[in-house]
Amino acid sequence: CGIVGYTGRDQAVGYLIEGLRTLEYRGYDSAGVEVVGADGELHGVKCAGRVAALAERCETANLVGTTGIAHTRWATHGAPTDKNSHPHRDCSGRIAIVHNGIIENFRELRGYLQKNGHTLVSDTDSEVVAHLIEDAWAGPCRGDLVAAVRNAVRRLEGSWALAVVCADAPGEIVCARNGSPLVVAATEGGAYAASDVTPLASVTSHVIQLENGQLARLEAAGRVTVYDEEGTVVESPSTLDIDWD
Ligand code: GLU
Repeated sequence: CGIVGYTGRDQAVGYLIEGLRTLEYRGYDSAGVEVVGADGELHGVKCAGRVAALAERCETANLVGTTGIAHTRWATHGAPTDKNSHPHRDCSGRIAIVHNGIIENFRELRGYLQKNGHTLVSDTDSEVVAHLIEDAWAGPCRGDLVAAVRNAVRRLEGSWALAVVCADAPGEIVCARNGSPLVVAATEGGAYAASDVTPLASVTSHVIQLENGQLARLEAAGRVTVYDEEGTVVESPSTLDIDWD
């Protein structure tokens, strides 16, 4: 299971697929990708099976965009099917998330969301996260994706590495981590997220390791800002300098 994210000056999908390939060794049963399109809509492809099958489908899909997230899934809740593959979207179709880990209280959250008018389409524990972010974005956190994600993860119990995109926040990815690994990096060409450092080998030797409870805002200009669970900027996040030789 793994996560890759990129926002920057280049097209995203090529790097995202390559990144998933480098994470294949972690094991998975499904894969998917979502980009914020140049047309202001989300565009995604996801399916059970190999990254190679996903890559083939991507060739004929309209995945033009410079911000995107990708996922390999190791199913814990819900069978390994196309529908249960990540990314998962909210009801509006303007927010997409990828998740590694387990949301322990997902049944209770599903019930709460369904009572409040949300339609969930998968059998996963993960999908609730997209809908919780949707509510936060529609309410007090509109225009601030970090605040919306922070608001949502406050309600979660379990483990997560999350990467989130929103069609109304182009050029941005928000990440959150608790229990499942996630690293981020900034370069002149953009900002990156990944489950471990292997997808970053071609990109940088300077990596930020998110700690439990932390979030990060990745911006296309090549900027990464780390926040603690209160939303305060972390001035000196934990870094790792890698000698790729
Ligand atoms: N629990 C989630 C699911 O079953 C994520 C699994 C993973 O870490 O890949 O969809």
